[in-house]
Amino acid sequence: MLGQDAGKAARLLLEQFWKPGRFPVDPVYLAKQLGINVVKADLPEEVSGALLKERGKDPVIYLHSSDSDVRKRFTCAHELGHYYLRLGEDTYESVDLRDKTLSAAGNNSDEVFANNFAASLLMPEDEVKKRASLSKLELVKFFGVSGEAMKWRLKNLGVKHEEFEVE
Ligand SMILES: [Zn+2]
Repeated sequence: MLGQDAGKAARLLLEQFWKPGRFPVDPVYLAKQLGINVVKADLPEEVSGALLKERGKDPVIYLHSSDSDVRKRFTCAHELGHYYLRLGEDTYESVDLRDKTLSAAGNNSDEVFANNFAASLLMPEDEVKKRASLSKLELVKFFGVSGEAMKWRLKNLGVKHEEFEVE
């Protein structure tokens, strides 16, 4: 199943380059370990992020310079998911539009993979389950994510938390 592959890829990346137990995870640091440049740019307002690879060059992740740090972190992790989907290809371009980066990605399988990858990278399953008794505020601070991202991660892992209501 694609979602499990994303979780596995994220776990392997953490095992390879990230010190265990250190949070929040820094997706920009991890991108650099993979040889990806991360650039903040004045993207069009409707664009949240992009991944670009030109022939013979290193891939580049573009983040929206006016987005919050929490948002940039998730977008960067999401673009890393796209990177894994294109591994081995010499040129590619993937542009993400705003408001389609979380649950709303629907059934586009690339977006589902990238979102699962981002969630697994920033909020590893074991760590979330270990800390499920923390308050909402403590959780989002610990993992460096939005309440919305945390909510969906808890739901997808089947972890109940009274401060996170999922309709
Ligand atoms: Zn995407």
